[in-house]
Amino acid sequence: MSKIIVLIGAPGAGKGTQARLLQERKGIPQISTGDMFREMKNSDTPLAREVQATMASGKLISDELTYQIVRERTSRDDCAGTFILDGYPRTAVQAEQLESLAQEQGKEIHAIEVDIARDELMKRLTGRRSCSVCGEIYNIYSKPPKSDNVCDFHPETQLTHRADDNEESVATRLATYDELTSPLLDYYEKSGRLKKIDGSREVEEIYQELEKMI
Ligand code: AMP
Repeated sequence: MSKIIVLIGAPGAGKGTQARLLQERKGIPQISTGDMFREMKNSDTPLAREVQATMASGKLISDELTYQIVRERTSRDDCAGTFILDGYPRTAVQAEQLESLAQEQGKEIHAIEVDIARDELMKRLTGRRSCSVCGEIYNIYSKPPKSDNVCDFHPETQLTHRADDNEESVATRLATYDELTSPLLDYYEKSGRLKKIDGSREVEEIYQELEKMI
């Protein structure tokens, strides 16, 4: 049976990095709600502006809008088999909506917690940089680009620092994670669908373990 692999972890735990690797090496589509919302910044509509403002503050976008984009994206051909959800679900309502989506699509949900100590997160988030062309994620401390502040694959492009990776938004994002998202760990655990991975290690080490899990 095809699976919906749900990666759960605090902001900065490394979900995106791992999901991108799985997509690159195993061809499993990475569906990142954060990336999809960030792409909306290129359109100048009232909705896009609202999404941008909410994201910058570190708060969550509404469950309904989020569900709509997940539903639309995962109904495309490339998601006919197994796919990875990176950053979804993040609330109890979203988890419920995902149950019915999985049922409709005939898929099993497998959740994986990427676990990491809180003090490591700040360093990761403030050191995080990404390429606005291909989305490759770097970290000035742990995964620097080959040349200073430019993407390895798009050397003409200066890396960017996410608007919500500042201290104030990070504090809100962590509090939101604790309040609304971390209860989902219990939810998946109780239904026997949760595995856990130690996200504090090297990217490659985590990847090897993750690959075996799925
Ligand atoms: P991320 O890239 O996963 O850290 O997401 C960045 C921001 O996008 C979050 O702080 C939220 O504002 C928004 N976002 C991403 N995923 C969701 C979601 N599942 N539900 C609501 N908002 C989301």
